Amino acid sequence: MSTTTSQATRSKQIELASRPNGKPSAENFKQTTVEISPIRDGEFLVRNEWMSVDPYMRGRMKEGDSYVPAFELDSPLEGGCIGKVVASRNEEFKEGDYVLAHFGWREYWKSNGEGVNPIDPELAPVQAYLGALGMTGMTAWVGLNKIAKPKPGSTVFVSAASGAVGSIVCQLAKANGCRVIGSAGKAEKIRWLQEKAGIDAVINYKQSSDLGGDLRKHAPEGVDVYFDNVGGEHLEAAIDVMNDFGVCVECGMISTYNATEPPTAPRNLFKVIAKRIRMQGFIVRDHMEAQNEFIADMAPLIKADKIIWEETVSEGLENAPSAFIGLFDGDNLGKSLVRL
Ligand code: NDP
Repeated sequence: MSTTTSQATRSKQIELASRPNGKPSAENFKQTTVEISPIRDGEFLVRNEWMSVDPYMRGRMKEGDSYVPAFELDSPLEGGCIGKVVASRNEEFKEGDYVLAHFGWREYWKSNGEGVNPIDPELAPVQAYLGALGMTGMTAWVGLNKIAKPKPGSTVFVSAASGAVGSIVCQLAKANGCRVIGSAGKAEKIRWLQEKAGIDAVINYKQSSDLGGDLRKHAPEGVDVYFDNVGGEHLEAAIDVMNDFGVCVECGMISTYNATEPPTAPRNLFKVIAKRIRMQGFIVRDHMEAQNEFIADMAPLIKADKIIWEETVSEGLENAPSAFIGLFDGDNLGKSLVRL
């Protein structure tokens, strides 16, 4: 494979072969090889080393645009990636530089620099810029610190608590002096949350026949903030146990992403009125002006070991579809990544 400026580069990529109906399967994806033409003046060529798989990508696999355009069939998928510049005719991006961009699901790509951000590999392992120091970490920080703003002593409930976003929310809330209750679907995740991340209580929602009842047991004085990553029955349970003037931060609703029928829960939305609950959705990319503040806040917490994280790494581009599908089976502890 050539990475010189004068030859074309063969690059493998994963395309969307068909739109999933319900949970995605391997048949919805296909691997192809394309030729990238030689770089010209002002351009540079990048070889991806890491790519991110994220639940929001499921929304882009549906027909019709949401807050981001739908993926096109028979075109490469997109998503966060970290790569190294392997050839350059651009002054600002030199050979050997690490960059963060949105051209995941492929081996190589070329660019003139638009939408590409250099990253500092000395500050943290490069893949952290896809997780705790990247989009998912910032989602946790924005949702908790800019939207929920819990006071020390508040009780915070977090669903998908051991995932990329949830695990950071839990620890940020602990660092703010809150009492934190998480929910997760596997014993290994519950152990990590309690023993490593220092969360006060964790519910195994897959073993619960009464999520609201279990939440109330752990929060006898009620929940002040619910950080919602899951929607559905988790949201219903949280609304039931929420205190007056509580806040529901609507970050994600993964329990509904593969649904082929409208969700049956929450059935108790009237309580949002009765309890004067503030319910607010947000999209992290609306808050990019706060990125420096986010890094400045996170860096000392990471240094003091108040924020730690896990990664679940799949090896090879060909395993990206199964890593993505695994998000819906709870295969990942912490950030799900693919190493290319
Ligand atoms: P995670 O790392 O949390 O991975 C997904 C996890 O969700 C799984 O490991 C699984 O854990 C849990 N899960 C999957 N299906 C279900 C289900 N049916 N019911 C309950 N839990 C389920 O992903 P992220 O941290 O990247 O994303 C978390 C949420 O945040 C998602 O809803 C995502 O869409 C949203 N998000 C929103 C953003 C925004 O800007 N608003 C930006 C980024 C993410 P378990 O074993 O515990 O079931």
